[in-house]
Amino acid sequence: MNRFDIIIIGGGIIGATAACALGAAGIRVALIEAREPVAVDARQPRDPRMFAITRASEQIFRSLGVWDAIVRQGAFAFSDMEVWDAAGEGIAHFDCAELGEPCLGHIVEPRIIQAALLQKLDSTDAVSLFCPARFQAIEIGESSVTVTLEDGRCLTAELVVGADGARSPVREMLGIESRRYDYQQSSLVALVKTAEPHRDTAWQRFLPGGPLAFLPTQDGWSSIVWTLPAADIDRMLTLDQAAFHEELGAAFAFRLGEITDSEEREAWPLQRMHAEHYVVARAALIGDAAHAIHPLAGQGVNLGLLDAAALSEVIIDAKQQGRDPGSLRVLRRYERWRRGDNLLMMSAMDGINRLFSNTQPPLGWARNLGLSLVNKSGTAREIFMRHAMGLGGDLPALATGQSSMPPPA
Ligand SMILES: Cc1cc2nc3c(=O)[nH]c(=O)nc-3n(C[C@H](O)[C@H](O)[C@H](O)COP(=O)(O)OP(=O)(O)OC[C@H]3O[C@@H](n4cnc5c(N)ncnc54)[C@H](O)[C@@H]3O)c2cc1C
Repeated sequence: MNRFDIIIIGGGIIGATAACALGAAGIRVALIEAREPVAVDARQPRDPRMFAITRASEQIFRSLGVWDAIVRQGAFAFSDMEVWDAAGEGIAHFDCAELGEPCLGHIVEPRIIQAALLQKLDSTDAVSLFCPARFQAIEIGESSVTVTLEDGRCLTAELVVGADGARSPVREMLGIESRRYDYQQSSLVALVKTAEPHRDTAWQRFLPGGPLAFLPTQDGWSSIVWTLPAADIDRMLTLDQAAFHEELGAAFAFRLGEITDSEEREAWPLQRMHAEHYVVARAALIGDAAHAIHPLAGQGVNLGLLDAAALSEVIIDAKQQGRDPGSLRVLRRYERWRRGDNLLMMSAMDGINRLFSNTQPPLGWARNLGLSLVNKSGTAREIFMRHAMGLGGDLPALATGQSSMPPPA
């Protein structure tokens, strides 16, 4: 009863996606999640944080047969993106029509994605959901791994996957070291209403304290991600609404007019984290358990989804060839595939954050020139947009629509 092919610990968006991908291929999965799912219900307050989902991630969800449910519940397609520097004239504008694409990406509430994945898992016979449940111990053996739950149940499999977020108890228990860097910044998130319409555009203004993004949502509001020095965050969380609207409007140069309303504010302290290894014998890490990255380009979930798709592809290939999916030889293919790409994105985010947070005049001049050049050069624009849409690099089959998985029911 408690024997599986794969045990996934952490049923957030990334773990649930991996479970869907493996389950669709008939691989027996135990998915262990600590928290009860949050209902998607109009009476519940909206999540103050929304995710920008790339076209590659959209394709992963399409391949798994969950995209239509996500769109039905509310995913907003944005067509344009505008980036500019508070200290200068440099500005770059991108438009999906240039690439002949219907949109640049979607803005979605996390609980909507989560609910669509869980609904899919409900009808996937190969996946057993243990929720709410937490693991107590992981014991790696020669040919299998045993996971003991806090209620005493024991599950065994050929491989355990840690998808349990940036603090990852799985990573800790496996003794995998990580490199960390504290940005000394926090991101304030909230839903806000502006006097002028958002024009289906994702806006980002770089300020010395960190970037400020306005992401367009379905009802005409915007989801903001305002990165601030850690020392400023408490004041901004506790400002009364009128004062908050005034400061936010000024920080955004009143690009969409006055801020006329807002909902709950929440803060997320920012840390970069990269696991030294993504795999050891019989265990692998995916998503934030392997890497946590600065949210300035909204890439964390998108990278994690590529991890989930790549690891699933490696496991399915191994199973089809009669190979052991928990062996280091097999798992290293996944690590080689994803670690370099993730490191590149993390380094790019760090570089952009440092460059734009710097008030030295020569750097201000250089970045304004850079933005203007990107805006004028067709090739630079195309490379930038393809990466922003998640269409660069070596994509797993689920993200290209070339997957040989059985068509979703
Ligand atoms: C302010 C901000 C804005 C962001 N915006 C974007 C964006 O626009 N686009 C984007 O792509 N990314 C964005 N990100 C990044 C994104 O939030 C993360 O990359 C993503 O949530 C990681 O998903 P995950 O499933 O790996 O981890 P998590 O979402 O942390 O999920 C981990 C799961 O594991 C479970 N768990 C933990 N411990 C245990 C245990 N012991 N037993 C069982 N279960 C356990 C948890 O309950 C949870 O459900 C943003 C991040 C921040 C901070």
